[in-house]
Amino acid sequence: MFDFPREITVVEVGPRDGFQNVKEFIPTDKKIGLINALARTGIARIEATSFVHPKAVPQMADAGEVFRQIEKVGGVRYSALVPNLRGAEKALEAGVRELVFVVSASETHNRKNVNRSIEESLDEFEAIAGAASRVPGCLLRLDISTAFGCPFEGKVPVEAVARIAARARDLGTAEVNLCDTTGMANPRQVYEEFTSLKEMVPDVNWAAHFHNTRGAGLANVLAALQAGITVFDASIGGLGGCPFAPGATGNIATEDLVHMLEEMGLSTGIDLPALINCARLAEEYLGFTLPGQVMKAGRACDLHPV
Ligand code: ZN
Repeated sequence: MFDFPREITVVEVGPRDGFQNVKEFIPTDKKIGLINALARTGIARIEATSFVHPKAVPQMADAGEVFRQIEKVGGVRYSALVPNLRGAEKALEAGVRELVFVVSASETHNRKNVNRSIEESLDEFEAIAGAASRVPGCLLRLDISTAFGCPFEGKVPVEAVARIAARARDLGTAEVNLCDTTGMANPRQVYEEFTSLKEMVPDVNWAAHFHNTRGAGLANVLAALQAGITVFDASIGGLGGCPFAPGATGNIATEDLVHMLEEMGLSTGIDLPALINCARLAEEYLGFTLPGQVMKAGRACDLHPV
């Protein structure tokens, strides 16, 4: 019998990864309200916003306000995405102490996403690492998108992921997060890729970010668990889509992930009924149905009257 880890860290990314895909502007007070509700569920970490240029993503124009005004609940680690040094400086001014940067493992996706080569992105990340190093206690997280496949190039060689992760490690990055940006991964691949990478690039803290675009999200979580990964991103209600596949399901839903883990006897520290209420709150705020399943079906342990 496989020896599962006892404790799992869940990182809520809905307020960033989810909201950035919502066209209609979500009022700042609703963003703050949802983040505060999430923080009170016992969740360990929240990626709260993105300091991207408002022209690129108008939804994130209020990043500074959101980050300054959210309650900083004790025990919760709050992070924000920064696309470049300017964004990092704005985030640090707003009090962010964990900066998340994204680079794609495939050249074509990186160009499409940020109009830079991978090398240019990594140079920018180095500049951000320089700024972060001048702020005591500031952490860095690197998201490697398309780590399990690129919608333009197809399969991504594990060496490409390893090279980026090694550079991140050498810059003092606290965590490297492998992202299945368009839901192309399968469980066997996830297990093999994490197992190889742990050998190829030692001394990295790994995390995983799966999308449910093709229905394999939670199966991929299980495969990553078996490869020893204990930090997982998820988005409340499954909020967030894929820019290349309109209507496609995005991130795995936080409450579905937590439900599966807790039913397996793995502890997340999260109050699941409170988390399900957050998913319903997100639906109410956004005015459309979210793809999360446990928020509709209820918990497996909630028995029906005979
Ligand atoms: Zn995502």
